[in-house]
Amino acid sequence: MIIQLDNKITEKQFQNIESALMNIQYKTQHIKTQFKEYLVCIGKKEFDIRSIGKLEGIEDIHRVSDQYKLVSSKWKIGKTMVDVDGVKIGNGHFEMMAGPCSIESEEQIRTIVAHLVKNNIKIMRGGVYKPRSSPYSFRGLGIDGLKIFHEICQENGIKIVTEVMQVSQIEPMLPYVDIFQVGARNSQNFNLLDELGKVDKPVLLKRGMSGTIEELLQSAEYIFSNGNERIMLCERGIRTFEKAYRNTLDLNAVAVLKEKSHLPVIVDPSHGIGIRKYVEQMSLAGIMVGADGLIVEVHPQPEIAFSDGQQNLNFPEAEVLYGKIQKTRELVNEF
Ligand code: PEP
Ligand code: MN
Repeated sequence: MIIQLDNKITEKQFQNIESALMNIQYKTQHIKTQFKEYLVCIGKKEFDIRSIGKLEGIEDIHRVSDQYKLVSSKWKIGKTMVDVDGVKIGNGHFEMMAGPCSIESEEQIRTIVAHLVKNNIKIMRGGVYKPRSSPYSFRGLGIDGLKIFHEICQENGIKIVTEVMQVSQIEPMLPYVDIFQVGARNSQNFNLLDELGKVDKPVLLKRGMSGTIEELLQSAEYIFSNGNERIMLCERGIRTFEKAYRNTLDLNAVAVLKEKSHLPVIVDPSHGIGIRKYVEQMSLAGIMVGADGLIVEVHPQPEIAFSDGQQNLNFPEAEVLYGKIQKTRELVNEF
């Protein structure tokens, strides 16, 4: 059960609600986010919800029987819109995030930023901490790379989405990041999720390679229940028996997540299929199934990219895609 508390609740009213819940043997957790206060209540006993709902200090009350609660669509009227300092995602707002897999150099950043500005894209992706299967692969430029990335994006009014891999990176990265990305490999790093719940920056949470929808939503619940409501879910492909492509982009998940949760859902077709020539089709399919945004790998010269070159679009390919995205969105809006 989720109780949304009145913004003007008094201490006495709060205690009264807590003791009423104790009487029906419900355990409560008091959650304060950047926007609101909630009581998440766990219990089994049958009771008349009106007996609690009528208490003073309660704005709204809903039964939510799922494992995840605050991220469930069962209590929230409408969808969540995540506001990234004026760039809006979700609840009817669609955004494109594009850029390289890895930030490689100042020149590379400048070239890509110019491409984004030209195409009216407001969010650039790019990793400075790269999770790589081999320790001998390029692992990112780190915080120094992020500072240059930030400076150039600031000059051009572009927001940054970049991956944070561990708790100790959050604080140094904080001034330079607009959206923290949690990668597939860290989707169930609960310590990292706890700490991202304590910062007031949006989080793009990717689904684990073998993560279920329920696990992804419970990971999002870690962030929300620690106080951060600005979360986007990301479908980036799962590992299956299929070997013809890197991952299997699970578009079923987009439809299901949009129904089960009020949070925006972003599709990552680049990692989802992992082969450049199919990225366009999977991007458009993602929009058709209800994505609130796309995150796509784009590089001026994919053939010499430091990572994931095989799935990066070059600029002409990306521009064809942007045009088709526009048309697909118009079509979806007509439905
Ligand atoms: C990435 O975005 O480059 C990345 C490493 O993604 P994922 O965590 O989905 O593999
Ligand atoms: Mn990548």
